[in-house]
Amino acid sequence: METKELNLITNREKAIEEAGELLKNGGVVAIPTETVYGLAADAFNADAVAKIFEAKGRPQDNPVIVHICDRDQLSKVVSAVPEKAEKLMDAFWPGPLTLVMPKADAVPSTVCAGLPTVAVRFPRDKDTQDIIRAAGTPLAAPSANISGSPSPTKALHVMSDLKGKIDAVVKASGLCEVGLESTVIDMTKEPPVLLRPGAVTPEQIESVIGKIEISEGVLHQLPEGETAASPGMKYRHYAPKVKVVLVKGSYEKYRDFLNDRQSSKNVALCYKGEGTDIGCPAISYGLCNSPEEQAKELFDALRRIDKMAVNVVYARCPKPEGIGLALYNRLIRAAGFEVLDLGE
Ligand code: AMP
Ligand code: MG
Repeated sequence: METKELNLITNREKAIEEAGELLKNGGVVAIPTETVYGLAADAFNADAVAKIFEAKGRPQDNPVIVHICDRDQLSKVVSAVPEKAEKLMDAFWPGPLTLVMPKADAVPSTVCAGLPTVAVRFPRDKDTQDIIRAAGTPLAAPSANISGSPSPTKALHVMSDLKGKIDAVVKASGLCEVGLESTVIDMTKEPPVLLRPGAVTPEQIESVIGKIEISEGVLHQLPEGETAASPGMKYRHYAPKVKVVLVKGSYEKYRDFLNDRQSSKNVALCYKGEGTDIGCPAISYGLCNSPEEQAKELFDALRRIDKMAVNVVYARCPKPEGIGLALYNRLIRAAGFEVLDLGE
């Protein structure tokens, strides 16, 4: 299959119209959003949704998020809206927040992997909104990568994973604004349960609806055989092909640790401005004091590492606070929960 490139920069109107047409006709199209690129299909077309799973190699038991372009579309996909969900929508929609709610009968079970609930998001990116509008239907869209690899934050990442397997990619300029997948919170529980941290932080959520629970799987490895509240949490994820080790401690300790075992097969994953005094290749992403910039650049950095002939990535460990919790969650999964604590 030829994968069309629809360029928003050179002809926005045409790109959106063509993406809309393809989606209306059961096609599968990668689209930019403020979080990461999504692989979209008509959420009410079970055959089209099946193509998403096939292209990504996504396990059938991992449900996908449904994207809408205004709150009126919500009643098509959910059967009830809990009061606290309403409050979160008022505060954070459109934006990088996904709410799990009871599903409407019309949503095919492939979208929800057989669960009685559906995850819904109203993205704030204007291009995403216009593509959904052009398609004339809510869009089911997980991240547009091969399952398990780092999520794509630019069109080139999508092409390197899915060229020839999908109908088209809509190309925006530069990296996605946020760079990490949306915050996911289960609103069918009381208190609501945070399933995946993202740019909308637990602190921000609690300031609107009070106490929430953080799912065990956010920070820890789930014991073998335990059912995950969010099926996606049980898979190794966001990972480059090489081994990743997360390293806790000060920059000085980290530098000395790497310099003690100099090897061109190691790579340091550190922050901008660091790494010049480390005797192995270094890839840097985001300034040390800007977790937002780190979020935006992390997946691109992991993909750059995959192009290097190295064996082990030693990654600086972000502070698990604010959006740093989301960074920590992605990196600890990439590392298969392997953490080395060097102390301060
Ligand atoms: P992705 O679409 O790749 O961003 O991943 C979506 C995440 O949301 C995965 O971790 C899913 O397991 C989770 N998710 C989607 N739908 C539901 C649902 N109905 N209940 C719980 N988690 C969900
Ligand atoms: Mg994903």
